[in-house]
Amino acid sequence: MMPSEPDWNDWRWHMRQRVTTLDALTRYIQPTADECEGIRRTEGVFQWSITPYYASLMDAGDAACPIRRQVVPLASELAPDIVGVEDPLEEVAHSPVKNLIHNYRDRVAFCVTSQCAIYCRYCLRKRMVGEASFMMRRSELQQAIDYIAAHDEVRDVLLTGGDPLTLGDRHLDWLLGSLKAIDHVDIVRIGTRMPVKLPQRITPELCRVLERNGPMWLNTHFNHAKELTPRAREGILALLQAGVPVGNQTVLLAGINSSLDALRELLEGLVQARIRPYYLYQAQVIGGTAHFRTPIEVGMDLMARLQGRITGFAMPVYVLDTPFGKIPLNRTYVLGRCGEFVIMRSTRGQLWAEPNPRPSSAVAAGLVDEARLEEMEWPDGVETIEVGGVGVAAGAGSAVSPGAEVGA
Ligand code: SF4
Repeated sequence: MMPSEPDWNDWRWHMRQRVTTLDALTRYIQPTADECEGIRRTEGVFQWSITPYYASLMDAGDAACPIRRQVVPLASELAPDIVGVEDPLEEVAHSPVKNLIHNYRDRVAFCVTSQCAIYCRYCLRKRMVGEASFMMRRSELQQAIDYIAAHDEVRDVLLTGGDPLTLGDRHLDWLLGSLKAIDHVDIVRIGTRMPVKLPQRITPELCRVLERNGPMWLNTHFNHAKELTPRAREGILALLQAGVPVGNQTVLLAGINSSLDALRELLEGLVQARIRPYYLYQAQVIGGTAHFRTPIEVGMDLMARLQGRITGFAMPVYVLDTPFGKIPLNRTYVLGRCGEFVIMRSTRGQLWAEPNPRPSSAVAAGLVDEARLEEMEWPDGVETIEVGGVGVAAGAGSAVSPGAEVGA
């Protein structure tokens, strides 16, 4: 039965009606055998839910649909992986109080909730999203606010999660008001996927809360042009009218947005919707996400081919997040490939070895053709690279130090 218009426009209705069973999913698509198996086998391992709004964007007859692939589990999530890292950015080690990550001197990331409206299959925080142990009680939120108040070097607070906009307006107003009351906090940023997966959340009341507690910046997370619906654009416009600038970060996802055409259409669509593309993230090494990872050479090649061919400010910065901060994936910081690792230097000077599929795997997966592969940065299968005249050692997702041999 079709929902009534008031229900469809009510974000809380969508939260209550989320798809969490195979049976409910069949109202939107005909699941493949692989999807059915994925749903069955990932139960109790990874969270799964889809809002009716986002589910309505799925192509019922196409298993390769970029919307569908982001939210419907596949059995490959449980395939053996090179690593099963749960916390690749060592966020727990950088957390002085629960769910507050203080990695950069003047900035903190504050995970205010573990809840999301949908659970993206590639999520960086698969270790925590939806988990009760990562939920924040009011007293725990207060502890984090007290930490920020006691550290006058912190001038920029990123609210993240889970998804901060799953919190109700009153709760959010209290949280934002508490941060606004701290003199040395200059700006608050919100990282949210609500404009993508549930734009009904961008209500006039929410906009008033954000406007009242500004200056506020919001970064959202469109991965494919298909997500830029009229409803989503409407939500973005309401945010802009409330004085909230909107940026976007995209994750480079194999087979979803890893082609030149898909990426160009997304970036051009974003600026047309008045959203500033900000980062293009290399997919993180997280257990259960190997099938989304793209060879870094493919990402660099895409960026090189986009440069000069789209509006300058439509170009995001292609980065990898590491415990040493974000590393721009360009020839200044990326030094080369040693077998299964890409070696790079952080902006703080440390060396980092990122486990990453070889470019030839992208040919096998149909992401690029042989001719394109020939034009990419490094020959496949180099075993050692030189940094300052010495070899560099690589470990799985690790810092490396000059002087040791590189294992391929
Ligand atoms: S909305 Fe963000 S935090 Fe939530 S599952 Fe998706 S990527 Fe992860």
